Amino acid sequence: MRLVPSTSFVHTKIVCTLGPASSSPEVLRSLMEAGLNVARINFSHGTHEEHAAVIATVRRLAAELERPVAILGDLQGPRIRVGALDEPISLADGADVVLAPEDIARAGEIPITYGALSDDVRVGDRVLMDDGLIELVVAAVERPRVRARVVHGGLLRSHKGMNLPGVAVSAPSITDKDRADIAFAVAQELDYLALSFVRRAEDIASLRALIPKWMLVVAKIEKDTALANIRSIVEASNAVMVARGDLGVELPFEEVPIAQKRIIAVANALGRPVITATQMLESMVTNPRPTRAEASDVANAILDGTDAVMLSAETATGHYPELAVRAMTRISREIEAHPMPRPQRPHGRRENDVPVATEDAIAAATAAAAASLGAPIVMVITKSGFTARIVASYRPAVPIFALTDVERTYRQLALVRGVIPALVAPAATYEEMFEHGRALLRRLGLAQPGDRILVTAGVPFDVPGTTNLLRVEVV
Ligand code: PEP
Repeated sequence: MRLVPSTSFVHTKIVCTLGPASSSPEVLRSLMEAGLNVARINFSHGTHEEHAAVIATVRRLAAELERPVAILGDLQGPRIRVGALDEPISLADGADVVLAPEDIARAGEIPITYGALSDDVRVGDRVLMDDGLIELVVAAVERPRVRARVVHGGLLRSHKGMNLPGVAVSAPSITDKDRADIAFAVAQELDYLALSFVRRAEDIASLRALIPKWMLVVAKIEKDTALANIRSIVEASNAVMVARGDLGVELPFEEVPIAQKRIIAVANALGRPVITATQMLESMVTNPRPTRAEASDVANAILDGTDAVMLSAETATGHYPELAVRAMTRISREIEAHPMPRPQRPHGRRENDVPVATEDAIAAATAAAAASLGAPIVMVITKSGFTARIVASYRPAVPIFALTDVERTYRQLALVRGVIPALVAPAATYEEMFEHGRALLRRLGLAQPGDRILVTAGVPFDVPGTTNLLRVEVV
C-alpha cells in the first residue's frame, strides 16, 4: 500500500464517468493519480466489448498503483427517447406535432421509443425533450399517437432523451437492454450497479432479484415520484445518487437545490453513501478552469454532507479530464480544511425515546471518542464494509482506516467519505487483525507510536453486519 499522509487525505470521494476522453491507460492513470476513487461505466453509451476493455485497464492500473478503485455500472433504465430521424427536425413555437411509437411512425411524425406513451399521458401534460430544452404540451391523445403543441421549440435530433414530469410512467423499471447489461456487470464482477429512474423501493427489489448479494445497488434519484418515496428507496438501497441531470428536468430547476439537501440528509441519517452528480464542473468540458459558481456547487455538496462528487461529460468526453479531477480534489481539500458545524447526534439517532441499534450507538460513540481523545485516526475492522459505512455516516473528523481481508469490500469502500480502505491478510482473532493494522498505520505514517486510536469492529469477524466492539488502543 502506498503512503497516504493523513493531512493530505481527501475525505470526499470522486466518481469519474469514463468515455472516449478517458479510456486510454495514460489518461486513466492520470485520473487515478489526480484523485479518482470510483470509475463509472455508463451503459447508455458504448458496447460491452468497449466496456470490458476499460474495466480491465482500470483494474490493471489500480493494482499497479496499489489503489482501491471501485467500478460502478450505471444502467440506462426506462429512459424514453426520440427514435431515429432521417434529419434533425426544426420545431417552431406554437406548431402542432404528432408523437408515434417508432415502429408505426409515419413521415412527418416524431418517432419515440416508448410504445405506451398514449396510455400514460393526459391532455395538458408536459413532454420535455433534449434535457428539457424543447417543451411540448399534450393537446390530444389519439391512441397509439399523441398530438402535442410546441411551447418552446428548437432543433430536435435523433435519440434525444424525453422526460414526462409528473406523469406516472408505466414502463417496467428494468428493460431488456438493462437485463443484458446486468448480466454483463455480474460477469465482470462490478462493485456497484446503479438503477436509473427509480420510482419506488420495489424497483430496487426487482434489481436485487437479478444480481448476487455482494453487488451493491445505487438508487438514482431523478424523478419526483422517487422524492415522494425517498426514505423507503434509500432504506432498500446500498447507496444513492442525486442525479441532477434528469431531476432538474423532471422538477422545476429551482427545486433541485433543496431536493439535493433532502436526499443527502436522508442518506446520511440511514448510513448510505451518497453521490452528488451532474454538471458539477460542466464548463470544464471545454475550459481548463471551473467557474466560481461550479467551485461553489462542489463545495456546497460537500457541506451538505455528500460522500462523493461525480464528473460526467467532464471526464467522459471533455477536453480536460485530468484537470477536472484535480479541480475537484482542490475544492474538496479546501472545504474540508474549514469544517462547518453539523447537527450533533451524540447518542446516535435515537428518536422518540426508542433505543438505537447497537451499531448506531457504537458508531456515534466512535466519532465522539475520536474527538475527545484527539485520536489521529479511527480503525475499523470489517468484512462486508458495514461497520466502516456506519461509522463513516457519523462523520468523524479524522480518517477511518478500514482494514479488510475481502478484496471486494476494499474496492467498495472507495466510495465512502473519509474511509482509507486497506487490504490485509486474513486473521482469525481481533488481536491478530489489530496487530496487522497497527503495523500498517506506523508504516504509512497515519499514526505515531504512543497515539491513542479508536478501534471498532464486529466480532466474530465472520458474521457480517454486527458492529459490537469499541476499544481505545495505543499504537
Ligand atoms: C443524471 O441524470 O444526472 C444522471 C447521472 O444520469 P445519466 O447521466 O444516466 O443521465
